[in-house]
Amino acid sequence: MTVKKLFFLPAGYCYLDQSAVNRNLTPGSLVKMPIWTFLLETTDGPILIDTGMPDSFINNPDYYKGTGREGRVVPAMTENDSILAILKRAGYRADDIQLLISSHLHLDHAGGNGHFRNTPILIQRAEYDAAISNDDYSPQECRIPDLKYQIISGDYEVAPGISIFSTPGHSPGHQSVLVTTETSGPILLTIDVSYTRENFENEIPFLSSDPELSAKSIKRMQELIKAVRPSAVFFGHDEVQAKKCRVFPNFS
Ligand SMILES: [Zn+2]
Repeated sequence: MTVKKLFFLPAGYCYLDQSAVNRNLTPGSLVKMPIWTFLLETTDGPILIDTGMPDSFINNPDYYKGTGREGRVVPAMTENDSILAILKRAGYRADDIQLLISSHLHLDHAGGNGHFRNTPILIQRAEYDAAISNDDYSPQECRIPDLKYQIISGDYEVAPGISIFSTPGHSPGHQSVLVTTETSGPILLTIDVSYTRENFENEIPFLSSDPELSAKSIKRMQELIKAVRPSAVFFGHDEVQAKKCRVFPNFS
């Protein structure tokens, strides 16, 4: 199998309290967070990485009203940001996707997983276990027990050009993906190892289920960068980086 193209697919925005993005800041102001999904076109068909926010967020900034997250998490999602609409623009339906790599089961990354009933979903054991047993994960969208989970533990090579690295910390079973296409050098999708470049390079702590593990995973990714010299390193929710990103229909 060869990876022909990697597409960066924007999937709307979510506003998050600045103290979640930078633990050194006091709560009270919101930061704009771009949401992403990634599509790989391979000789064995399309592979998707993450599914963005759930359809219940569409035109619903008040989703968290009356909960502990009110005023701290404010989705900014339209119909166009639904994973099905995103795939449609790329010429695919959910059932066309051969494999879904789920970085972790938070609502801004796995919100659309429920649309993929017939697709194997690659997820870390630690993440699956955490999500199933923890009410912090959304029951309707991120704790769906009867999907076709393909559960792994630790690093995993999906195919030549697609390597998964176990990077827990932000969530218990978070994973990052290193992609090399026919025409690109290695591209490191750190996903939420770091929300922003600042988190990654300057040891600015951010939202994490285990800050110590998070710091270890950042170090691990920094070592990987030294070893493989990627042509690009992409962070989970960096608005500055997002503005410069060449998105679909451009590809790497
Ligand atoms: Zn995220």
